[in-house]
Amino acid sequence: MARFVFITGGVVSSLGKGLASAALGALLQERGYTVRLRKFDPYLNVDPGTMSPFQHGEVFVTDDGAETDLDLGHYERFTGVPARRADSVSAGQIYAEVLQKERHGDYLGGTVQVIPHVTNAIKERITKDTDDVDIVLCEIGGTVGDIEGLPFLEAIRQMGYELGPQRVAYIHVTLLPYLRSAGEMKTKPTQHSVRDLRAIGIQPDILLCRSETPISEEARRKISLQCSVPADAVIPALDVDTIYQVPVDYHQAGLDTAVLKRFGLPHDQEPDLGRWRRIVEAVRAPEGEVTIAVVGKYTELIDAYKSLDEALAHGGIAHRVKVKTRWIDSQIFEREDAALTLSDVNGILVPGGFGGRGTEGKMAAVTFAREHRVPFFGICFGMQLAVVEAARNRAGLQGASSTEFGTCTDPVVGIMTEWERDGITERRAEDGDLGGTMRLGAFPAKLAPGSRVHAIYGADRIQERHRHRYEVNVNYVPRLEAAGLHFSGMSPDGRLPEIVEDPEHPWFVGVQYHPELKSRPFAPHPLFASFVEAALAQSRLV
Ligand code: GLN
Repeated sequence: MARFVFITGGVVSSLGKGLASAALGALLQERGYTVRLRKFDPYLNVDPGTMSPFQHGEVFVTDDGAETDLDLGHYERFTGVPARRADSVSAGQIYAEVLQKERHGDYLGGTVQVIPHVTNAIKERITKDTDDVDIVLCEIGGTVGDIEGLPFLEAIRQMGYELGPQRVAYIHVTLLPYLRSAGEMKTKPTQHSVRDLRAIGIQPDILLCRSETPISEEARRKISLQCSVPADAVIPALDVDTIYQVPVDYHQAGLDTAVLKRFGLPHDQEPDLGRWRRIVEAVRAPEGEVTIAVVGKYTELIDAYKSLDEALAHGGIAHRVKVKTRWIDSQIFEREDAALTLSDVNGILVPGGFGGRGTEGKMAAVTFAREHRVPFFGICFGMQLAVVEAARNRAGLQGASSTEFGTCTDPVVGIMTEWERDGITERRAEDGDLGGTMRLGAFPAKLAPGSRVHAIYGADRIQERHRHRYEVNVNYVPRLEAAGLHFSGMSPDGRLPEIVEDPEHPWFVGVQYHPELKSRPFAPHPLFASFVEAALAQSRLV
């Protein structure tokens, strides 16, 4: 039977609870336990799929097609355990389920209430499909004291009572601000936050204290006494220069030991964190560097491209080089010559995106990459625009475009309303709801022998994750091939173009899926590793 660790946050948001949970998961794995990580978000959206990346950061897509919080990306990258739909739960989903049951008459005329109906639904989601793992880590989004978080806290309190201390532990992540004027670290906000938790009936077992400066023994003892948490379970969590240092630091500070101790599990044997240390070393002491321009739309908020940013770093780790990423708002290329910004970069990447704004600028970046033979990587929207660019500028179809921007004479990219998955046809109404209606999750693709991507993957068939409404129109493939593009990856039924490459270019690849979602520090995605390698080769030419 699984044990549960609940991770809550206090004092302020953005303390890195997601990363802390991911790091703890990795440490428990190094200790020999199997883990599953889950995120519970108190907002009322059913999923983050329809939330603006500006507000909520990237939408992380799982193999089974769920649109989830970006923290699931951290979980996957740190633990290597593929996340599933069931691992991302929002209050919106819970309420939708409870209200649907109410309409269906499942509550037999009873009054439907937050306690017990909503809390029971939360508890079901926490425990569902967890029999196959040793330890389940559940991160509760938001901060203690948020009104919408209360049902989640009540549910986890009940679980502690029902399953007992052998099977449930609570970690509270807080902040110890350092007041420069007073020259002192302040413990009061942590005390207040723990008091708020206790008022709900939860006594934290472990405090993970984020801090910019080291925490004195005295401060640790003070927090311990005031919060009734053993001093060795008051864990200092200092800022780090690379996220891969987090598991190493948290282990040294005693986090995993405190969890195992709390559960009465053996904890004397030191785990081997060699592979984490090696990654940190590779990041800190690169042997070269490349500059990649990412030409997109949400460039002010790197969280909107979290997995992409990570995947580029992994590609760098694969070759021991630092990848310097230059985030560029594509709209500037609608006003000025792309060469002004792109002439000194070693690679150009056009990432996923939605809507017409800035697309002409993205296509200008494609043109620049093509004409100047700079390595080019188009992802999802980036691939679609690379195809439109080729249709217009190489195949002579001046009216080529995507129907995402309205009707056009040559819809080389158009909406798809049905596709096959595992032999079953999935259908979607063109004017249906926005949420969850895209081609989502893992789909297979067949790679053409002899192509660049076939060599990069070293496989005939791959599985990658998708999230898009539009597809390259297969009817245009012969004309685009004649103009120099090679469609080297197709859906197994041959109807959906998945990969396009230019055999005459040093490195020009567009993919309809999101490879960044499957890249991991210990297993950099082959496309990112290859792209960085091409950028490195380009850097030696200039
Ligand atoms: N907007 C495009 C589509 O819906 C691309 C989506 C994406 O890049 N994720 O097909």
